[in-house]
Amino acid sequence: MFHELFNLFYPKTCQICDEILLKNERIVCLKCLHELPVTNYHLYYENPVKKVFYGRVPVENATSLMIFKKKGSVQKLIHQLKYKGQQEIGPFLGTWLGAELEKMPAFREIDAVIPVPLHKLKLRSRGFNQVEGFGKEIAGTLKIPYLDQVLLKKSFTTTQTIKERLARWGNIEETFILARPQDIKNKHVLLVDDLITTGATLEACANTLKQAGGVKISIATMAVAG
Ligand SMILES: [Zn+2]
Repeated sequence: MFHELFNLFYPKTCQICDEILLKNERIVCLKCLHELPVTNYHLYYENPVKKVFYGRVPVENATSLMIFKKKGSVQKLIHQLKYKGQQEIGPFLGTWLGAELEKMPAFREIDAVIPVPLHKLKLRSRGFNQVEGFGKEIAGTLKIPYLDQVLLKKSFTTTQTIKERLARWGNIEETFILARPQDIKNKHVLLVDDLITTGATLEACANTLKQAGGVKISIATMAVAG
């Protein structure tokens, strides 16, 4: 009763078009859902996301659920997640992609899911890592652990700021730390993030994880810039 009254006064709306959601709709309305630019890249061993890493770092399998365009529906969705506190968007996308990956033998051999870490200060101001819900759902579907204490971001100091600024001209590898190498040694891990643009962050993360020895890397993100 209370729930229905609450919904009457504060109805849930589509995170893309703001229309009121129907009872059977979740996060986005059916119309927006069908119009989302889904890639289906996971169906292809060689695809544009995997190509991003050619000649940079060895990647087993790579995919993104959707194509991100400036001012497009995917940008709206990720903005709602990151800056408007709409945390349930992460698990929604994770459930979706997880169900797709589960059907693919190449993704079923993965041992653990590792999120791209958020800087401590950002974590404090935002209150959550936007990749967490997404990654946890994928891990749950594939029945593998979600490890968020293996790859960490270096803490912020003045000298670190200068180092990071300098690093931007070359590589940003040194901004990540491998905290528990024994947890991923000789394992195949799935790195997850929200958006791939240049791929530099994921490349740096992959190189850090490889320090554990015998590590295979696959990549899955909510979206890829296109
Ligand atoms: Zn809509």
